[in-house]
Amino acid sequence: METIHKATTTFRIRPHLAEYDASRVAFSWDEIRKELTGSSASKYWNLAQLAVDRHLASTGRSKLALRWLGKDSQVRDFTFADLAAASNRAANVLRTLGVGKGERVFSLLGRVPELYFTALGALKNTSVFCPLFSQFGPEPIWQRLHRGDAKVLVTNVAAYEKKIAGLLDRLPQLNKILLVDSADDLSQNVLSWPKAFAAANEIFDVPATSSDDMALLHFTSGTTGMPKGAIHVHEAALTHYATGKYVLDFHSDDVFWCTADPGWVTGTSYGIFAPLLHGVTNIVDEADFYAARWYRLLQDQRVTVWYTAPTAVRRLMRIPGRPREQYDLSALRLVLSVGEPLNPEAVVWGVEALGMPIHDNWWQTETGGIMVANYAAMDVRPGSMGRPLPGIDAAIVRRSADVVEVVQEPGVEGELALRRGWPSMFRGYLHDEDRYHRCFVGDWYLSGDLARRDADGYFWFVGRSDDIIKTSGHMVGPFEVESALMEHPAVAEAGVIGKPDPLVGQVVKAFVVLKQSFTPSETLQFDLLGFGRKRLGPAVAPKEISFVDNLPKTRSGKVMRRLLKARELGLPEGDLSTLETDG
Ligand code: ATP
Ligand code: MG
Repeated sequence: METIHKATTTFRIRPHLAEYDASRVAFSWDEIRKELTGSSASKYWNLAQLAVDRHLASTGRSKLALRWLGKDSQVRDFTFADLAAASNRAANVLRTLGVGKGERVFSLLGRVPELYFTALGALKNTSVFCPLFSQFGPEPIWQRLHRGDAKVLVTNVAAYEKKIAGLLDRLPQLNKILLVDSADDLSQNVLSWPKAFAAANEIFDVPATSSDDMALLHFTSGTTGMPKGAIHVHEAALTHYATGKYVLDFHSDDVFWCTADPGWVTGTSYGIFAPLLHGVTNIVDEADFYAARWYRLLQDQRVTVWYTAPTAVRRLMRIPGRPREQYDLSALRLVLSVGEPLNPEAVVWGVEALGMPIHDNWWQTETGGIMVANYAAMDVRPGSMGRPLPGIDAAIVRRSADVVEVVQEPGVEGELALRRGWPSMFRGYLHDEDRYHRCFVGDWYLSGDLARRDADGYFWFVGRSDDIIKTSGHMVGPFEVESALMEHPAVAEAGVIGKPDPLVGQVVKAFVVLKQSFTPSETLQFDLLGFGRKRLGPAVAPKEISFVDNLPKTRSGKVMRRLLKARELGLPEGDLSTLETDG
């Protein structure tokens, strides 16, 4: 698909990253540190203090920091001063309970204000915040509380009764549970959050925090197997801030909405920290996906920068019509996506439907922040993840035993690697040091994703190394097959796997979800097989197509190809703790 050109003159606000190469040359992490902390050498600061208290000395005090939209149309507004007081109280609650430095404070909550107070309060208290996705069932909750050595859990009465109470025998280290919707304590260890919160002082003395202190524990999505607990430190603030500036292009009047739940890393790095660090207004919607609500939110809140995910975009694409003619989306100036590859079709849909392309970017729980991105002022090549963030060295490498060779020629597929040492680099997988060390060879962190770089330095996602299909001597990434199928007018979504075959190694098989107005038929199947062959050539095109109502996805919205495959082959389904299920 053709490049989407951007002309600098058309920008309402001049983007921070106006010229990519120049920004890369001028960039230094010391400058970012100075901008954020006031000193280029400083090593002692606290992420939550920088996110909230930093703004109190200025007019930022009375600025809207967080607007919370409840499921039933309630609205609660919090200024930076309100958030400072609430997070101080939360920190005092934790201190009073004896939660010490480095100890883990978990939350199991929907997107309610208390989640945000807990996150910030836990960090101010120099304890570690670990958010769990509220719709997890008891087993995945137990796994994470247990593996994460949870000391305190903040949750609600329903979740406590249905999911937690039965686990307590198996969680001896869990000292206290705080219930955000209980007016009274239930026992000595199961306490009322409102009571504790009301009794807590709104002044809190943040203990000296080193930027190397552990701040966050994030479990990965579990797309390829058992989720891993990635450790992040306060230093991550520098990446949150730098990406807020260069990728999300925050300016002081922005209204930002990140649709990700804080149960996933996007929902904390960008659903909490990056906008606060920049002092912009952050919208939190308690409700789940519902297209009309989302468009109305963009319109009514005058959202300027919107960060969402391919799975949501594909759901919006299924609905006929042009939203920008039905809703006033005139405030919107930048739309971004992360979590999975964004099909070129979706990027282009953005132009039609929203009035601008959707800007794909790539990162992982392990990287803590955006590493490769399409920038506001940079031409977009649909299907490409964009170019590395200034300050980040990304490369395509070939790994053999203990040696990594950087591939210089463009267009060659290899593993996407990052030069180690960026501020939000994970500092460990909790309780799995070996696995952590295996991710690094020499100077390089190996991401486990395959990609290629074109002659202009744009990166193109090929697939996760586990998902790559080897067919008749070709290496096929499921993404390119899925994207080609999505160009067919009947296709809403596709998931592609390799099926073992004695003749060709693996045959490419596609599972296809049709758009609302289409029904499965043999003719359509035939048509799609032909369409695939024409787009991709016979070597890469799917040989088999099955129609399905839905694709199995993680709760963070990623297609679980390993599960499509296991089901197809009748193999064990493996860890399903993050599989999205109804209810
Ligand atoms: P697990 O590691 O437990 O299998 P996961 O890798 O899905 O789960 P995350 O850290 O949430 O957990 O996701 C990061 C991965 O998501 C990346 O390694 C990549 O495979 C995929 N991804 C994220 N953004 C993009 C993107 N823009 N394009 C392509 N892939 C992406
Ligand atoms: Mg991963």
